[in-house]
Amino acid sequence: MNLHEYQGKEILASFGVDIQRGIVADSPESAAQAALKLTEETGTSWYVIKAQVHAGGRGKGGGVKLAKSINEVKSIAEQIIGMQLITPQTSAEGKTVHQVLVTEDVYYPGESETSEFYMSVLLNRGTGRNMIMYSTEGGMDIEEVAEKTPHLIFTEEIDPSVGLTGFQARNIAFNLKLEGKAFKEMTRFVSALYKAYEQSDSSLFEINPVLKTSDDRVIAVDAKVTLDDNALFRRKAYAEMRDTREENPIEVEAKALGLNYVDLDGNVGCMVNGAGLAMATMDLIKMAGGEPANFLDVGGTADAKRVEEAFGIILKDPNVKAILVNIFGGIVRCDRVANGIVDAYKNMADQINVPIIVRLQGTNAELAKEIIDQSGLEVQAAVQFQEAADKVKAVLA
Ligand code: GDP
Ligand code: MN
Repeated sequence: MNLHEYQGKEILASFGVDIQRGIVADSPESAAQAALKLTEETGTSWYVIKAQVHAGGRGKGGGVKLAKSINEVKSIAEQIIGMQLITPQTSAEGKTVHQVLVTEDVYYPGESETSEFYMSVLLNRGTGRNMIMYSTEGGMDIEEVAEKTPHLIFTEEIDPSVGLTGFQARNIAFNLKLEGKAFKEMTRFVSALYKAYEQSDSSLFEINPVLKTSDDRVIAVDAKVTLDDNALFRRKAYAEMRDTREENPIEVEAKALGLNYVDLDGNVGCMVNGAGLAMATMDLIKMAGGEPANFLDVGGTADAKRVEEAFGIILKDPNVKAILVNIFGGIVRCDRVANGIVDAYKNMADQINVPIIVRLQGTNAELAKEIIDQSGLEVQAAVQFQEAADKVKAVLA
């Protein structure tokens, strides 16, 4: 689950990570009030107004702006709230901004230069260990840094039985070329950040930029936090941070029904039981010359109600030109699934406007094919994988 910047920073701060202070607002008036409050708390007289959407590159799209007075805060908030923000990470139509984060300005002049760093914490799936990835080249597109100047990206891998060591924290500060107070601040920052990552059950932290201020403090200016969905059951307070306005509406609906659904760009909808079989089915669709319109794992119980719900979700996608049902009847018998499909089809016949190919394999597969063939419905049954692929190919032609 992705979080907004302000929510990610809230979590970071709760573990002692220093952040750029801010208050979230959903109207120009509350943005102005937030700015007043920030001045009381931090003494700042300049502010940054930051669009809160689940996408990076907001600065490039005009979603991050500096304000030098309360009036300016109000007028900038007026522009940003309600706008369609288009960034390199959004679709062409962009994302609607519902809220802004009003922050203190932390790029103030002082004794030394400010520096921006990149830092992320994530799981290295190759080694099965968490790692901290960091770079002196902060505030920029890290993919570009990785491509053009890979030697400027460093990593520290963390041994889970030992945790982040003091040496590693110091090594990070050293590689970022810090000295004196800033060096110490960075080691403290890194330790708190790693603790926050582990104890919040996150799967990704990306802090770009981490800022060394002109008075040698080290703070998180931006925060992209992704929480591990599988751990949300024990992180109720975090689970409540979910903002469904940022998510694909069909996916939100599917989730409420307990379906594992991921919307994709293709034209063949698929309904499968089991994630592995779903992946294989998507390959099958590609081999047949189609493109999967979704990933959908209906799970163990493929009864009429379940099948109907799944059809309903798939049919919400206007790009779907055909549906392939590929179900393995292990615990659930194929004839029961077939009856479920027939019942579901009859219940929603008026909504079904695309060809359906059903492949059932496993216990009573032949009987299931008979049930479908004899139903008189416009459903094509197949037993073999290749047979199903050929039928998909034929309807797409
Ligand atoms: P992103 O564009 O979505 O990654 O949003 P960021 O939170 O990273 O902000 C974009 C840029 O705004 C940063 O890289 C900074 O250069 C700038 N910025 C953020 N906070 C401040 C601030 O307090 N003062 C000034 N002057 N610039 C800031
Ligand atoms: Mn950023």
